[in-house]
Amino acid sequence: MEALPEQQKMGKLLPCCSVCGQVPAQGIHGGLKLKNFFICRECEWAILTAEVGSPDYETLMDKLRKMVKA
Ligand SMILES: [Zn+2]
Repeated sequence: MEALPEQQKMGKLLPCCSVCGQVPAQGIHGGLKLKNFFICRECEWAILTAEVGSPDYETLMDKLRKMVKA
């Protein structure tokens, strides 16, 4: 396990989006909590609506793959 993101070093764990790095205003309710990462609603939507094969889709998938491996 490598260095944890800032939010996890603090006592209270605030969900920080693993894709864009933002902390949603609604906290844990502002997105999708997965095993060891969190995706904010905006990124979740971006992933769902990205056109398969488009540069945006590839960028998102690349980030997701790295998250899954981490
Ligand atoms: Zn995000």
